[in-house]
Amino acid sequence: MAQVMIVGAGPTGLMLACDLRRAGVSVQLVDRAHRRLVASRGAALHPRTMELFDQRGIVDEFLAAGRPISVAHFAGIHVDWSTLLTRFPYLFGVLQSVTEDILERCAHRLDVGVQWSAEVIGLQPHSEGVTVAVQGPGGSSTSVWSTWSAATARTARYADSPASRSMGPTGVSSLCWVTWNWRTHREIG
Ligand SMILES: Cc1cc2nc3c(=O)[nH]c(=O)nc-3n(C[C@H](O)[C@H](O)[C@H](O)COP(=O)(O)OP(=O)(O)OC[C@H]3O[C@@H](n4cnc5c(N)ncnc54)[C@H](O)[C@@H]3O)c2cc1C
Repeated sequence: MAQVMIVGAGPTGLMLACDLRRAGVSVQLVDRAHRRLVASRGAALHPRTMELFDQRGIVDEFLAAGRPISVAHFAGIHVDWSTLLTRFPYLFGVLQSVTEDILERCAHRLDVGVQWSAEVIGLQPHSEGVTVAVQGPGGSSTSVWSTWSAATARTARYADSPASRSMGPTGVSSLCWVTWNWRTHREIG
């Protein structure tokens, strides 16, 4: 039984799944979408993100899939990346869909698959755990009762950028804060 349920298989959820698996935690990764979007929003990665991929042994896959952009700006201000003390002193151009493909392959290598068409529609904390309601493809709703202390999920964690939400003692949020643009975390009722 999964120890952590991750809600959302975008870059945040995929990265979190990989890091937790490497730490020996079993995860369940669900997404309400039927499949991964082909369209991309993000098109570039910052040096620190490349460093974090390097630490995880997957930066070569990115280097093979994109290219450095030496001239870049931030909010219209020219940024000279070459002055940074890093192995990756540039903005790296790669489509978000490619980033997600690479992270999903990484997750698969770690035995984590994405459960598509599974929408979390309710999250109810209580003293010993959390109840997660998941709407499956057949339209049925499943409740998963989890406990902080015993066998099942200790944490349900939202990895959804527009309104990322976390419940309970996650202790893992810092893993992802540094890699992508995070929004405020808030509880849902
Ligand atoms: C125009 C634009 C340009 C951008 N350019 C860049 C860039 O160049 N570089 C960069 O680093 N970032 C860029 N970004 C930001 C980047 O796209 C986001 O930071 C990134 O998508 C966040 O990833 P995420 O995994 O947190 O969220 P998302 O990619 O939004 O993924 C969230 C996932 O959660 C799922 N989900 C949501 N609610 C539920 C639920 N209740 N149950 C189950 N699943 C659920 C969704 O289906 C989705 O798949 C850009 C954003 C925009 C809009």
